[in-house]
Amino acid sequence: MVLWASSCEPSAQLEYYRLIERYVVAAQNMKDLLRKLVALQKIDAEVYQFKREIKEQPALVADIKAQYEKKLTRYKELQHNAQDLDRARKAKELDLKVKEEDIVKANNVLMTLKTNKEYQAKLFEIENIKSDKSLLEDEILKLMDDSSKLAEEMAKEKVVVDEEEKIYLAEKEKVDAAIKVLLDKVATFEGERTQACQGIDPATLAMYERLVENRMGLAMVPVVKESCGGCFMKQTAQMMNKLKMCDEVVRCETCARIQYLEAEL
Ligand SMILES: [Zn+2]
Repeated sequence: MVLWASSCEPSAQLEYYRLIERYVVAAQNMKDLLRKLVALQKIDAEVYQFKREIKEQPALVADIKAQYEKKLTRYKELQHNAQDLDRARKAKELDLKVKEEDIVKANNVLMTLKTNKEYQAKLFEIENIKSDKSLLEDEILKLMDDSSKLAEEMAKEKVVVDEEEKIYLAEKEKVDAAIKVLLDKVATFEGERTQACQGIDPATLAMYERLVENRMGLAMVPVVKESCGGCFMKQTAQMMNKLKMCDEVVRCETCARIQYLEAEL
């Protein structure tokens, strides 16, 4: 091509060399961009790993948490049952009070009755109320007995719940501490990362960051022996040409990662 240029008119030669120069500058800019992205990728690979570990932490206490919550739910059920028994007993106690008042009233009326028939009828009525009262007393005693048994069961369950809570909180504390250590590690990269982003245009940076997020922290991959370093797919001759030309961001047609040739950088 240089030979062809040397045989052309001077003006055409000049135009040709300008084109070559523009191409060289563009390729150099692209190489600069790729080098910056590769440097950023090194940081992001570590940050991604730390963030992945942070996400995994809660799962480490999930079983213990589930165990504790199961016991807590059981204990709360018992609490509800105890409240139900309490309410039922109080209602019966009110009924009992009404029956007692009815007996007093009926006894008062009894004193005023004139005929034997009326007297016997009232006595019968009083006996019926007393019978109802006795039934209520039995029911109240039964409810009190149930409450007492439930209170014993609750006391035992409370010991279990407290123990499970202690185990869970101790493990959670360890996990929270581990998360803090990992977050601190991520934070130490922040300054370095901000610096590494300098000079990368926003559109390319946004595209790269989407890839980091969606491709398990790996957005930049070298092509080695004509295969993508991300998905290992063999690259076509056309793709290899594009990579060597270095005048555009080349992305794998299979995994969409940004590719580069290590030797070209
Ligand atoms: Zn690929």
